Amino acid sequence: MKKVKVLIIGSGPAGLTAAMYTGRAMLEPVVIVGDQLGGQIAMSSEVENYPGFDEVVSGQVLIDHMVKQAEKFGAQLVYDHVKSVDTSNGTPFTVETYKETYEVDVLIVTVGASPRKLGIPGEEKFWGRGVSTCGTCDGFFYRDRPVVVIGGGDSALEEGLFLTKFASTVTVVHRRDSLRAGPVLQKRAFANEKISFVWDTVAEEVLGDEEVTGVRLKNKKSGEVSEMDTDGFFLFIGHIPNSEIFEGQIEMDEEGYFITDSLMRTNVEGVFAAGEIQDSVYRQVATSVGQGTAAAMSAERWLAEHEA
Ligand code: NAP
Repeated sequence: MKKVKVLIIGSGPAGLTAAMYTGRAMLEPVVIVGDQLGGQIAMSSEVENYPGFDEVVSGQVLIDHMVKQAEKFGAQLVYDHVKSVDTSNGTPFTVETYKETYEVDVLIVTVGASPRKLGIPGEEKFWGRGVSTCGTCDGFFYRDRPVVVIGGGDSALEEGLFLTKFASTVTVVHRRDSLRAGPVLQKRAFANEKISFVWDTVAEEVLGDEEVTGVRLKNKKSGEVSEMDTDGFFLFIGHIPNSEIFEGQIEMDEEGYFITDSLMRTNVEGVFAAGEIQDSVYRQVATSVGQGTAAAMSAERWLAEHEA
């Protein structure tokens, strides 16, 4: 059993910021990195709305800086996954990973969210063979080939615009007749000659043999079913919080997002949360960084009060 004062689960902007702050407070935080160092933003090729970077910067570069800064102040990053968390007896909590069992005074949960899937036939079968949730990762494979994007939010348009760098055409299929995305991205998407829209339509099946060759679509208003040829099927239909291992322990809303107060406290004394695991609304690097800062400062104060 390894004793740590502050354990941070997750290594996205919220987790790395919490690590930097608790590191500077000499609390020697340990960060359990999880699936992807840097979380979702590490996959983003272009970030242009993070304050302080007036030129476009890649998510990976931002994360590299955050990691260096956290490590500079003594944070330790561990490449491992959490299997279970036990908060039932209060602090110290027990956190079991694949490599270690930790006894933890304060827990900061920044496990984020994962892309939502449709659950239609062909989606799993062609996963990684034409079906993707990451334009930045897979766009390169679709040079001069047609792709379909599902969704009408900021992610669908941002990633759709990115995909136009490679793809011959990008068809955005949206279930309604108006977009959820903000006006700036809408304007750019409507102005892009490679992008076209199919409205009021849902995907019913991903078609293919070895790889994706098409998609079966259904118009929700007319009921008409059609098939569209495509080599890529990109899904950007929101996210699901990665809160499964905390079920029954941390209070969540009906979608599984943690409920926190303005001090980033959960319902369990000594468990704080930041970033997308408790924010289904803003989900920006800038907001996650702010929430990570608040969680770290609250954790630091909580420890000071309880050690006194
Ligand atoms: P989102 O805003 O929740 O949009 C999800 C989109 O997918 C919506 O258009 C939704 O349709 C559609 N959708 C959801 N479930 C579906 C289903 N089962 N079948 C078909 N369509 C489905 O998610 P997001 O685009 O990932 O954005 C998440 C948050 O991150 C937002 O707050 C967004 O502003 C932010 N974000 C910001 C930026 C930026 O500022 N540059 C970039 C990316 C994301 P409906 O519209 O009908 O609900």
